[in-house]
Amino acid sequence: MNGSKQWITNGTYAGIHLVFAVTDPDKGSRGISCFGVEKDTAGLIIGPEERKMGLRASNTVPLIFENCRVHRDQLIGERGGGYGIALANLDGGRIGIAAQCLGIAEAAMKEGVQYAIDRQVFKKRVADFQASQIAIADSRAELDQAWMLTLKAAILRDSTGRSAQASSMAKLFASESCNRIVDRMLQLHGGYGFVEDFPIERYYRDARVTRIYEGTSEVQRIVIAREVIRAFEID
Ligand SMILES: Cc1cc2nc3c(=O)[nH]c(=O)nc-3n(C[C@H](O)[C@H](O)[C@H](O)COP(=O)(O)OP(=O)(O)OC[C@H]3O[C@@H](n4cnc5c(N)ncnc54)[C@H](O)[C@@H]3O)c2cc1C
Repeated sequence: MNGSKQWITNGTYAGIHLVFAVTDPDKGSRGISCFGVEKDTAGLIIGPEERKMGLRASNTVPLIFENCRVHRDQLIGERGGGYGIALANLDGGRIGIAAQCLGIAEAAMKEGVQYAIDRQVFKKRVADFQASQIAIADSRAELDQAWMLTLKAAILRDSTGRSAQASSMAKLFASESCNRIVDRMLQLHGGYGFVEDFPIERYYRDARVTRIYEGTSEVQRIVIAREVIRAFEID
């Protein structure tokens, strides 16, 4: 194997890496195979840890393969079956990121609403301003929508094993709304939202990557549109 892959979460600690590699270049997506490669294999180099904007408790590294020899026993599934394995797991991973967004947004709401109740400005609580109430109401309504899309995708995946469109819709909406919610809850903190004294500053940084990893929001829209159009064509 030769090549590299950026952005591997927990790449420093994993004992076995699942590596998707081109085995038959002429066969397109049917020419990709999946291998289990152990950490200490000669030619597998684990790169330096990234210094990230958020998710600083998690490890992210590049993996570099330089003439890394693998045996056919390390093949997972069929030769050429790697693309299917990757796609099948993405649907589940996207539900996982949607769930992560629910957790960040719930935590942000807890901090933001509590701060708005506690903080007095000109003898009024921040929570008493109508503008604050709009921020709180919009956030709660969006967060409940994100919960429903995420649960729907999880139920579909559990019951049918197929959830590409539902997973992408959950991931897209949960991540985009999580970023809006964290931003509004930070705004309720005023200047204290911008310093490290309150947890909201960390939630703001942690939320940002959810619109990027496990497929960006732009890529989720491609998946959703493709599935919607395909359903029309079948009808
Ligand atoms: C902290 C972190 C952890 C990660 N962990 C892992 C991991 O464990 N394993 C793993 O495999 N990957 C991991 N990733 C990688 C992550 O999934 C990718 O960064 C992400 O899918 C985006 O790919 P890219 O970085 O190559 O962006 P690019 O593909 O270069 O995209 C750049 C921009 O172009 C846009 N774009 C690209 N193609 C299109 C298109 N067709 N139409 C419209 N717009 C488009 C994108 O939306 C984006 O805005 C991680 C990334 C981060 C930041």
